[in-house]
Amino acid sequence: MAEKDYIQGATGPWEIVIGMEVHAQVASKSKLFSGADTTFGAEPNHQVSLVDAAMPGMLPVINGFCVEQAVRTGLGLKAQINLHSVFDRKNYFYADLPQGYQISQYLQPVVGKGELLLDMPDGSTRMIGITRLHLEQDAGKSLHDQSPRESFIDLNRSGVALMEIVSEPDMRNSEEAGLYLKKLRTIVRYLGTCDGNMDEGSMRADVNVSVRKPGGPLGTRCEIKNVNSVRFVQQAIEYEARRQIEILEDGGKIDQETRLFDTGKGVTRSMRSKEEAHDYRYFPDPDLLPLEFEQGWVDGIKATLPELPDEKKARFIEKLGLSPYDAAVLVAEKESADFYEKVAKGRDGKLAANWVITEYFGLLNKSGQSMEDFVITAEKLGGLIDLIADNTISNRLAKDVFALMVETGKDAATIVEEKGMRQVTDTGAIEKVIDEVMAANQDKVAEYRSGKDKLFGFFVGQTMKLSGGKANPAAVNELLKKKLAG
Ligand code: ADP
Ligand code: MG
Repeated sequence: MAEKDYIQGATGPWEIVIGMEVHAQVASKSKLFSGADTTFGAEPNHQVSLVDAAMPGMLPVINGFCVEQAVRTGLGLKAQINLHSVFDRKNYFYADLPQGYQISQYLQPVVGKGELLLDMPDGSTRMIGITRLHLEQDAGKSLHDQSPRESFIDLNRSGVALMEIVSEPDMRNSEEAGLYLKKLRTIVRYLGTCDGNMDEGSMRADVNVSVRKPGGPLGTRCEIKNVNSVRFVQQAIEYEARRQIEILEDGGKIDQETRLFDTGKGVTRSMRSKEEAHDYRYFPDPDLLPLEFEQGWVDGIKATLPELPDEKKARFIEKLGLSPYDAAVLVAEKESADFYEKVAKGRDGKLAANWVITEYFGLLNKSGQSMEDFVITAEKLGGLIDLIADNTISNRLAKDVFALMVETGKDAATIVEEKGMRQVTDTGAIEKVIDEVMAANQDKVAEYRSGKDKLFGFFVGQTMKLSGGKANPAAVNELLKKKLAG
């Protein structure tokens, strides 16, 4: 591990250790044990069945679709699928939990050990272990900000299916934690098992943080609950690690506790001391049979998995010649990867990647539009790249053409024709321009010839300028070298 990954304290370097529990809402129209609707944004308490409200005598009925999504997600995380798993009751009291217990899985979850690969900015990868994935129902929501005197309960979320995905304590800094969350979101989106919309609460992270002296035993952790954005996860980790280091360096000890991240102040605050499994008195839910799968059923789901981001990235590197970094950027969203593939089809993969990543996304972001609505289609961008590839325009000039394409909605060939932007490759014409530049700068020519090589760039610039940016840069370079040599 590199020095830079340590935090320097008064007593020397410290290492941060992070493990995450992510709650991902299953992309399902109905809840885990009832037929109630799950659409986001409904009026409070308008999507609550008698089961979700925990009316006496109601019985949960397992939603097979949700189970299938959990298995699908497990397969996407290259994890062990357990053919036998059990639903348990996790008992606790809270106003937004009318049953008095949450139906979850404990000792026998549906998915066991798996792995997730982080794509680091330097192009390398890092493997993070997945401990397990289990299915559970969400609780309702307490609303404390509607009235100064009362709290309200909205049970729309009560009973919604969640996949809790638990990682090993394998992350070492906030950057890795952010990459982990993003990669997990990418994977569930590719699989279609969760929409990954963190601002709608479809993905929430409990972040476990501890610190230790490098190579020492694991420290006591604190768990920061329900963090709902990548940025907040990172801020919470940085604050929490420093808080713990300060306590330890002052000779104190860390209490294992559950904390909340105050997004306004950027600090974590104690919520309650950590509860242990026995506090919840887990036991198998007598209303539900264990889940039993046949291997053939699991294999059938496996056969329907799409090409996942890691595989797509490997293919982009091997078959299209991309750098690991560019490939990782493109596969992060399936929509971008698909767009890129359309642009690259039958063209130079690397040139297409540069244009998609830098120019296309640059102007798309500036426009504030979605890829779907943006005037530049894959076909139009492809047309522009074709003009670069056949030397009709230089890469430099292509950027101006691209800006005009966005502005006017016209295709590249039309703009080049209308504006006479065709690149000058005729060496005679370029030589004429160079002669003019040299005649106007005889002093600089003399300096160059007496050894001031740096002036070469000046001559290139002047020649390009005088040609209106249309001279072929390679030809300009070659001809200038010859002429300046005298
Ligand atoms: P619980 O459900 O009680 O929070 P788990 O054993 O399931 O307990 O662990 C929860 C998370 O805490 C896991 O993601 C795990 O990787 C992480 N974790 C465990 N020990 C540490 C530690 N010392 N420092 C940081 N994270 C840890
Ligand atoms: Mg926990």
